[in-house]
Amino acid sequence: MARDLKSLIAQMTLEEKAGLCSGLDFWHTKGVGRLGIPSIMLTDGPHGLRKQNASADHLGLFDSVPATCFPSAAGLASSWDRDLIRKVGVALGEECQAEDVAVLLGPGANIKRSPLCGRNFEYFSEDPYLSSRMAAGHIEGVQSQGVGSSLKHFAANNQEHRRMTGDSVVDERTLREIYLASFEHAVKEAQPWTVMCSYNKVNGTYASENRYLLTDILKDEWGHEGFVVSDWGAVNERAEGLAAGLELEMPSSGGAGDRKIVEAVRSGKLLEDKLDRAVERLLKIVFMAVDRKKEGATYDAEAHHALAREVARESMVLLKNDDGILPLRKGGKIAVIGEFAVKPRYQGGGSSHIKPTRLEDIRDEIAKSAGAGAQVTYSQGYDLKSDVSDEALAADAKKAAAAADVAVVFAGLPDHYESEGFDRTHLSLPANQIELIRTVAETQPNVVVVLSNGAPVEMPWIGSVKGLLEAYLGGQALGGAIADLLFGDANPSGKLAETFPKRLEHNPSYLNFPGEGDRVEYKEGLFVGYRYYDAKAIEPLFPFGFGLSYTTFDYSNLVIGGNAIRDDQEVEITVDVRNAGNRAGKEIVQLYVRDVQSSVIRPLKELKGFAKVELQPGEKKSVSFTLDKRSFAFYDVSLKDWRVETGDFEILVGRSSRDIVLSSLISVESTVAVKPVYHRNSTVGDLMVHPEAAAAVMEWIRKTPFGAMAADYDGEGAEMMQAMMKYMPLRGLVGFSGGALSEEELEGLLKRVNV
Ligand code: BGC
Repeated sequence: MARDLKSLIAQMTLEEKAGLCSGLDFWHTKGVGRLGIPSIMLTDGPHGLRKQNASADHLGLFDSVPATCFPSAAGLASSWDRDLIRKVGVALGEECQAEDVAVLLGPGANIKRSPLCGRNFEYFSEDPYLSSRMAAGHIEGVQSQGVGSSLKHFAANNQEHRRMTGDSVVDERTLREIYLASFEHAVKEAQPWTVMCSYNKVNGTYASENRYLLTDILKDEWGHEGFVVSDWGAVNERAEGLAAGLELEMPSSGGAGDRKIVEAVRSGKLLEDKLDRAVERLLKIVFMAVDRKKEGATYDAEAHHALAREVARESMVLLKNDDGILPLRKGGKIAVIGEFAVKPRYQGGGSSHIKPTRLEDIRDEIAKSAGAGAQVTYSQGYDLKSDVSDEALAADAKKAAAAADVAVVFAGLPDHYESEGFDRTHLSLPANQIELIRTVAETQPNVVVVLSNGAPVEMPWIGSVKGLLEAYLGGQALGGAIADLLFGDANPSGKLAETFPKRLEHNPSYLNFPGEGDRVEYKEGLFVGYRYYDAKAIEPLFPFGFGLSYTTFDYSNLVIGGNAIRDDQEVEITVDVRNAGNRAGKEIVQLYVRDVQSSVIRPLKELKGFAKVELQPGEKKSVSFTLDKRSFAFYDVSLKDWRVETGDFEILVGRSSRDIVLSSLISVESTVAVKPVYHRNSTVGDLMVHPEAAAAVMEWIRKTPFGAMAADYDGEGAEMMQAMMKYMPLRGLVGFSGGALSEEELEGLLKRVNV
């Protein structure tokens, strides 16, 4: 229904307007009864609905209504399937409608800078291209149901350590290319109703009062049309926040924030017009929620559970499969070992923690899928509440393993190891689990490990097991999904959305995480995740984009739609992928771009496209990608814009970041003329790269004692002479010329080359 928001705002008192800019309580906005402005509910998110009944908290401590628990984002992203995540969003939206929730708080698009971040399970990837597309799919799904999303936590909130006071110090190019890019596509393409600003400071200013982030970039540059909500308790100075672009403070501040806004308007520090515009943004979304409310909506909990199982299957990653130990033969003797098999870890801790509609028992699901005549035994193996090995439990597990054809060990991170609110300090599994894996492997050569964790762990035991399935935090239907994959009723098709390092020390942020006091400097710059491991030639445990299948895929016929394009043109890339095995399966085809030569520091390659394709045995399909300017560009800090440098780019297509199968070159011409400005400290080399300036400087050098050297520029020994002269500043030429060149002549030269 069209409403005249401006005239509604004109009828509001200053206090009513300020009041609208903060919550009524923990989860609701304020209404204004006399003007028919309703109150709406915002609640967590993101992998299930967390609507609390009575008492409210934002740390996951109290109970909430039952809702479907889908795999958390770390798993969802490993599906590399935007449409599938969209489906999850649709289901979440339906549950919100049924529970009268207007805005679901999520998804989280923060980059996994360090594997230690306690909240990595809630984030998608170390790569902004992938993360932003996964986030967009989630938002599109939720919002298709008339429910808003809240894309969070904007921005550079990449650790839990001192999260409410920390200052993320990030250079502008890195911020743009990595940390903001992870939000950018999702904002521009999916237009979340709300964006949640993070707790931390970014380059010295709290995100909640950061005009550069909330207004200049989010609203003005990216065109965000909804409102910004504070993370719960993220407001520092309320009036400054409002001026910077923070419309809604959550939760209620008991009127304190509202009073500050009123005072700021009265004292002239804040323009009332600014407040009016904030209120307009809020009302627009409030009424959108009201207009799209589906009265009496219900949802099909069974169908959502089935979807959770499908999604979990697609989200798990097969990391090792020596001797084709998987899929397991049906009807055999299987020793299920590890307490996680009966007390599964299926979601993370903190504000996203929900109460599932039901929870599958992994052991039961394995027994159901194991086939006629199968013998499935269970042995606890370790105590989840302790890190210390229990001899009796370990001995029992060893016995069970010895008596079986295969041992499937369930291991992972217990709840108290990773959660919102704190970071890990190491990447180890509990010592008793490591010992158990070793003990079992001593007696049984056929060991498969299934991991439940929200982020990478070190695996000193990897050599002693044949199979490894990374199940992440698989949601309420993880048991069935694991069974489907173990027995080959489904073919694994997930790939890692993050690098698993061999050791924590290999991680790019290692020396600067979690920082000193409140200051964390992102000194690794652009080199986050695979960008770093590639550049440093460090062999990871498992690389970004890696994941196995029970079939194999061949790649052929990489075709680039044009050898040369301008940067304002798009180019189509196609490649044929064939299922070369005898099982149906899905392949995630990845496209990376490498700038062959660049004047700025660039990663060796960056993900710029991906597609998940389903293929029957022997079937071949052509997969296509469209690349545009952004696929080749870097963020030019001096231009304050994205820029492509004219030159060749390599298109790399492969199975993972470390398994590039096909490559080809394309040349891209920049349409942005960047005119260099030369000065007395410009070097000969600076001028030599621009043909006109090069001619001028050569002519000039010829008039000097350096003339002889300059002659050599084209002749024998040219390479050495060029290298020697390259870094000579123009004023140096004057100085060394022994009076043959003057400052006046230098000025003349600069005039000629700077036209
Ligand atoms: C978290 C948010 C969450 C909010 C509300 C905060 O502590 O950082 O992600 O949406 O609480 O529960």
